[in-house]
Amino acid sequence: MKAAVYKAPGAPLVIEDVPDPTPGPSDLILKVRACGICGTDLHWSESRDGSAGWRALDPNTVMGHEFAGEVTEVGSDLRGQWRVGERVCAQPFFGCGRCAHCIAGRAYRCAEVTMRATAELTGAYAEYTRVGATSALRLPEAVSYHEGALVEPLAVGLNAVRKARLEPGDTVLIVGAGPVGISVAMWCRFFGARHVVVSDLIGQRAERAVAFGATGAIDASREDVYSRVEQLTGGQPQVVFDCVGVPGSLQLAIDYAPFDARVVIVGLCMAADRFYPAKAITKELDLSFVFVYRKRDFEIVIDLLGRERIDAGGLVTDRVGFDRFCQAFEALKKPSNQIKVMLEPD
Ligand SMILES: [Zn+2]
Ligand SMILES: [Zn+2]
Repeated sequence: MKAAVYKAPGAPLVIEDVPDPTPGPSDLILKVRACGICGTDLHWSESRDGSAGWRALDPNTVMGHEFAGEVTEVGSDLRGQWRVGERVCAQPFFGCGRCAHCIAGRAYRCAEVTMRATAELTGAYAEYTRVGATSALRLPEAVSYHEGALVEPLAVGLNAVRKARLEPGDTVLIVGAGPVGISVAMWCRFFGARHVVVSDLIGQRAERAVAFGATGAIDASREDVYSRVEQLTGGQPQVVFDCVGVPGSLQLAIDYAPFDARVVIVGLCMAADRFYPAKAITKELDLSFVFVYRKRDFEIVIDLLGRERIDAGGLVTDRVGFDRFCQAFEALKKPSNQIKVMLEPD
């Protein structure tokens, strides 16, 4: 099958033929219909080693973890439970299905977890991909493959907003208007935040978040974020989300937070960072870090998409085949007006 293959840190991906995945007894093989390009993959493809806590990629691995597709093969233990032709999305990792972490829907903590972008498991920047049945979820008719591929980034936002213990009527500041920031803005609005202010170093990107639930936008390149939030909301945020995840962004979130605020770090920084603890201590901030989602978050997102309680279609700003994929991936490493670019392998 065709896949976009990682070669070396900072080098463009290359479309190559790689071996077709084969199903284990409890696996499904999907024909990938849509796979979103994620900021994690952009950072990851440039990272040289694992010293900052995020493993480096091995050459010739295939990334891609925001996907939906059609079942083409069913593992021998799953006959009668799954059928060829079913439409599904899946969590990007899968575990044993039996341990406490797996049962809690957090398979990424399982001692036997299988991760994508490894020699064992090619990711979904490919024609086909293998998923563990425990990680797969059926898509209702009303949910398109594109929406199915958006379930993952939407689940990231949902998990972050839950961790923030958002209360109806809260004022929220979201630092960073990329796909993660927009997903967080959608959920803050959904759960009844009164003001959802998004700041970004590119004013246009911040403005765009208004279409997805933000109530105010700040161009951080020329406005003072702290005082602008006060102007826009008549008060101060109870919650500040760092949805950037580069060195320095954690400190910014701390600087923008008022006394007693909850600061939630969502953006995944893959480098060493420094911040000034005293600036968080004297404000008595409540700092929390969030990682991915529970399986239940996927179920909630799929259900809400299927009943049109949330609308995510506008997040897809471009769709590319393999012919344009590697260029599109490189282009996203620089600031652009794209939100989510979808690979459609056909
Ligand atoms: Zn992602
Ligand atoms: Zn397990």
